[in-house]
Amino acid sequence: MNIHEYQAKDILRSYGVAVPGGKVAFSADEAEAIAKEMGGDIFVVKAQIHAGGRGKGGGVKLAKSVAEVRELADQMLGMTLVTHQTGPEGKTVHRVLIAEGVDIARELYLGIVLDRSVSKLVVMASTEGGVEIETVAEETPEKIYKEYIDPQTDMQPFQARRLAFKLGLEGDQIKHATKFILQLYSAFTETDASLMEINPLVVTPAGEVLALDAKIGFDDNALYRHKNIAEMRDTNEEDPLEVRASEHHLNYIKLDGNVGCMVNGAGLAMATMDIIKLAGGMPANFLDVGGGANVETVRNGFEIILSDPNVKAVLVNIFGGIVRCDRVANGIIEAAKSIDLSVPLVVRLEGTNAKEARELLANSDMNFEVASSLEEAAEKVVALI
Ligand code: GDP
Ligand code: MN
Repeated sequence: MNIHEYQAKDILRSYGVAVPGGKVAFSADEAEAIAKEMGGDIFVVKAQIHAGGRGKGGGVKLAKSVAEVRELADQMLGMTLVTHQTGPEGKTVHRVLIAEGVDIARELYLGIVLDRSVSKLVVMASTEGGVEIETVAEETPEKIYKEYIDPQTDMQPFQARRLAFKLGLEGDQIKHATKFILQLYSAFTETDASLMEINPLVVTPAGEVLALDAKIGFDDNALYRHKNIAEMRDTNEEDPLEVRASEHHLNYIKLDGNVGCMVNGAGLAMATMDIIKLAGGMPANFLDVGGGANVETVRNGFEIILSDPNVKAVLVNIFGGIVRCDRVANGIIEAAKSIDLSVPLVVRLEGTNAKEARELLANSDMNFEVASSLEEAAEKVVALI
């Protein structure tokens, strides 16, 4: 799960990480009141969407008075913001962060992610702040400094200091940066985050080190341990079909192709997408309906798959290990009756009672194509498109 910048900053603040003051506003009136209360002579109005690149897209603007804050908030709220991360359709701005303006001496980068290849968290720092880290990694990888964290010892102060030195910090800046990095690391591990990115991490002319921007992603499987974080979810920012699927406890990810997939088990779902591509097709989604595929889950799965207008055919691939294939076949027949199945359907069932299941499907008056192997199923569905 991802959250907004202002929410990420609230969390970081609670771990003592240095963040400029600021509050979220849902209306121009609120923006004005926040700026008035905050005081100071320079403010930043920042569009809150789950995408980066807002600065270049016109979603981050400086204001020199309370009146200007109001004006900018009024312009931004309701606007469609297009950045390189939103896609051409952009995202509607429903919230803005009103933040204290900060003087910047240097813009740096700091990030923490799990490096799966070594099974360790890696803390990354770079002198190239404000730029996309992917670009730095591609063009000047030597400018990214990394510290791998041993899970048995956690991050050690010397590791944070080593990063601070590599960033070219001096004197008190090193002390501030070391503290910042260690607190960020604590925030990461204690909230079960999966990604944290501070871009830019700024050094002020007075030598302070502050998170000017903050992005956090969380491990969904650990959210039950963090009720306050789970409540920060903003479904406006998510794909509507994925939101509907999660309400039905279905594991669905929308993709760009036209072959809808309904599969039980995540590994089989991945294999199904692979074999569709191998047969020359493109999967429209990943969908794992879970172990107990019953009428209800199959119907919900169909409804979600078919809500995607790109879907031109559906492949159902069920392995009956825990669940019996004849029960799934009945589920498919029942579900297909109750919804308008407007595209061809190929079904491959294997495992317990597979033979009975294939007979049920063949004898139903519905128009299913039945395949006996995964390869045949993929070839059939691609041919039907
Ligand atoms: P992003 O473009 O979505 O990553 O949004 P950021 O929060 O990173 O803001 C983009 C850029 O706006 C930053 O890299 C800064 O250069 C600038 N910016 C943001 N806040 C301030 C501020 O308080 N003072 C100044 N001078 N610049 C700011
Ligand atoms: Mn940024």
